[in-house]
Amino acid sequence: EKRVYFFGGGSAEGSAGMKDLLGGKGANLAEMTNLGIPVPPGFTITTKMCAAYYEHGRKHPDDLVEEVEEHLHRLETIEGKKLGDAKDPLLVSVRSGAAVSMPGMMDTILNLGLNDVAVEGLHTITKNERFAWDSYRRFINMYGNVVKGIPHEAFEKELEKVKYKKGVEEDTHLDAADLKEVVKFYKQVYKKHTHEDFPQDPKTQLWEAIDAVFGSWMNDKAIKYRKFNDIDGLLGTAVNVVAMVFGNFGDDSGTGVCFSRDPSTGEKQFYGEYLINAQGEDVVAGIRTPLKISTLEDTNPVIYKQLVDVKDRLEGHYRDMQDMEFTIQQGKLYLLQTRNGKRTGAAAIKVAVDMVGEGIITKEEAIGRVTPGQLEQVFHPAINPAVKKQYKPIAKGLNASPGAATGQIVFSADEAEVWVEKGKKVLLVRPETSPEDIGGMNAAEGILTSTGGMTSHAAVVARGMGTPCVAGCKEVQIVGKKMVAKGKEYKEGDWITLDGATGEVFEGQMELVEPEVTGELTTFLSWADEIRNHSFRAQRGLKGFGIRTNADTPQDAKRARDFGAEGIGLCRTEHMFFEEDKIRIFREMIVAADLEARQKALKKLLPLQQKDFEGIFQAMNGLPVTIRLLDPPLHEFVPKTDEAIKELAKVAGISTGQLKNKIKSLHEENPMLGHRGVRLGITFPEVYRMQVEAIMRAASAVSKKGVAVIPEIMIPLVGHIRELEIMRGHAEEVIKQVLQETKAEVDYKIGTMIEVPRATLVADQLAQYADFFSFGTNDLTQMTYGFSRDDVGSFVPQYIQEGILQDDPFAKLDQDGIGQLVELGISKGRSTNKNLKIGICGEHGGEPSSIEFCYRAGMNYVSCSPFRVPVARLAAAQSVL
Ligand code: ADP
Ligand code: MG
Ligand code: MG
Repeated sequence: EKRVYFFGGGSAEGSAGMKDLLGGKGANLAEMTNLGIPVPPGFTITTKMCAAYYEHGRKHPDDLVEEVEEHLHRLETIEGKKLGDAKDPLLVSVRSGAAVSMPGMMDTILNLGLNDVAVEGLHTITKNERFAWDSYRRFINMYGNVVKGIPHEAFEKELEKVKYKKGVEEDTHLDAADLKEVVKFYKQVYKKHTHEDFPQDPKTQLWEAIDAVFGSWMNDKAIKYRKFNDIDGLLGTAVNVVAMVFGNFGDDSGTGVCFSRDPSTGEKQFYGEYLINAQGEDVVAGIRTPLKISTLEDTNPVIYKQLVDVKDRLEGHYRDMQDMEFTIQQGKLYLLQTRNGKRTGAAAIKVAVDMVGEGIITKEEAIGRVTPGQLEQVFHPAINPAVKKQYKPIAKGLNASPGAATGQIVFSADEAEVWVEKGKKVLLVRPETSPEDIGGMNAAEGILTSTGGMTSHAAVVARGMGTPCVAGCKEVQIVGKKMVAKGKEYKEGDWITLDGATGEVFEGQMELVEPEVTGELTTFLSWADEIRNHSFRAQRGLKGFGIRTNADTPQDAKRARDFGAEGIGLCRTEHMFFEEDKIRIFREMIVAADLEARQKALKKLLPLQQKDFEGIFQAMNGLPVTIRLLDPPLHEFVPKTDEAIKELAKVAGISTGQLKNKIKSLHEENPMLGHRGVRLGITFPEVYRMQVEAIMRAASAVSKKGVAVIPEIMIPLVGHIRELEIMRGHAEEVIKQVLQETKAEVDYKIGTMIEVPRATLVADQLAQYADFFSFGTNDLTQMTYGFSRDDVGSFVPQYIQEGILQDDPFAKLDQDGIGQLVELGISKGRSTNKNLKIGICGEHGGEPSSIEFCYRAGMNYVSCSPFRVPVARLAAAQSVL
């Protein structure tokens, strides 16, 4: 078994396809080497060795040693230098890199191999004393931090002292003598924390560093990052040992990060930042303010052109936007990393659409490249433009991650988590962020930092999370628990608003508005629809996979249509009753003493409901509309206050005492398992009959105006065949009457929800009386798991934390358990009714993994809330791909 893979001297043993084994970084270093792109040579220790490290109780396996030494020797031969050599030492970096990129999550050590002797050799051979000592002090700092866990600040403090003494602000202004001093102090810091001298043996340094990289796989921030990003099933991190090239050699050297397209907007424009005379993470750390890549064209046109060539080649080769790290040593360019660039949702869509236009990728690939989460980002809110016009920003920083956010200021990531747990909305305000802050960054509505560039930690992470972020906002000063902007002080708990698309920061809580569908997005989603309705399904004799929406009002219906909904999968009639004029009559109906009184109230309700339905039919203009008959327990509608009770008693013509008794009689111990759904229909058929009449009268009226209408009448909570048989009988009777009277021709369907577990078991019986099934997986989950939907907050979070559950089953459909019932219901239903139309309504209908399940299970459509419709369109297309 090969444990180590070499790259250098024009060829590499690995390739881009070997990410699982070599990690993304290692695989791409190998690939670039084979492409002939300038990459310093080195070798990659496989991710399997990381797994072995943990199997051996956090120690590298012994048989790894020989293989690494062999490859080190190969590297020394190619470079013509030896690790630790007193005259001309080879220096290497030791870098982590898992199969999935985890930016900044694990640590890199640069300049390994330096010691008190080698530093002099480096000085002599390069004739650059400042450089030699700058490299050494960086190495002690990184090694101390990564291997020994000494905080960066402990070293920073010493550096600050030396800079202060010298009266300079930037470390580039320190000379060799100053840096020697820094090294002396750094060694003292090292000794103070470890009670050991800084190790002088390069082999000790190397192995400790390798073990530390393996060890970093299981540090808190890495574990958290994987959790937040749903990354699991990886072996571990690979370790890359790479010959050093030096960006800190002088003013003809530098280091930078660049993207082949703009990762914020997706614009086809070379984009990036670099620093002269700097090394490694200096750009990302936000310590010095980096320069725009375009300025390199003026200062070093030769290198700039090389870099442009390389990025074009890499983008063409990988057929995706590349995120590259490079170093220039004395006017020579080296690539140190390339990967598919992280991008905002807007950029993901633009790049995908543009690349189809440029003939680089296919439409199918384009659809596969945008995650539902990224698509969702472009539907992020913005500040209401009318409101925004009236205010001046208190500060402006970099537009690091789009979307607007408003919240109360907190100054630490921990506080952000605490406040959000208490139900508050917060903006995390910090000088800069680090991987430790990831929990708080995730909890916050938005992030504001006062230092760092577009590729700083805060910016990169916020873009990935889709959290609005203003970074590098130098116009605010943050000191402890205070933020000062334009001379005014803001403290913890004060409201501010930020616009991540422009970089502006405003005082106070501003109104946010939802965005609209435009341009590339429309194109992109139309491709998603094309794929979803692709002949692919037709070939298998399947119908298209539809996206419907849950909408109770004409406005919602209209919005959902604009978002691309192809029908209404769930219109809840009870919401209509909560309107001022209707609730009164509805209550009158509920408390009616006898049938006659009830029918009197229902007569008044009929035209009101009819009008509502007409509005919805009109808005859906020819698309199917599934209307669910009354579902919730009646007591939800009864008046609660004394005053309202008195008023209702008067209208109903009974005493308040009588009314109170009536209300008491409606009380249920377990209302969600009580007198609701079809059970109301059975006990008060006149209520359901009125609703059916209203639906059909509305359908007749609208169809007579020349608008096609497809009503689908849905009976909820059915668990027994007789329930459905009886209700269908009532409905058909009413429908016949109405259509005879109106002389309209309306195509209608009658179906049922499948939400009581028993319904799935007898679905073959139910299907004889149903034209369609709609799975109500909210109730189905509640009743199958026996988890009260309204009370899961008290224990499910702990279930998830302890790993008992992966996800909240009300958010993501439990495919293992409840999924079986869904599949059973579908196959049983279709066994007796081949033409049965089947869909899902409820929360799961808008959740990508559940949508995929519904598709696989053979449903005809999913239905979700209007705002989720675009995400569902994409998720559905990706399921079909
Ligand atoms: P990360 O995974 O956090 O991006 P890297 O392993 O890419 O960490 O290292 C961070 C930075 O360190 C690189 O972008 C590069 O600037 C610098 N670096 C790493 N290895 C070398 C090397 N062999 N020579 C010069 N610089 C290096
Ligand atoms: Mg890197
Ligand atoms: Mg239900």
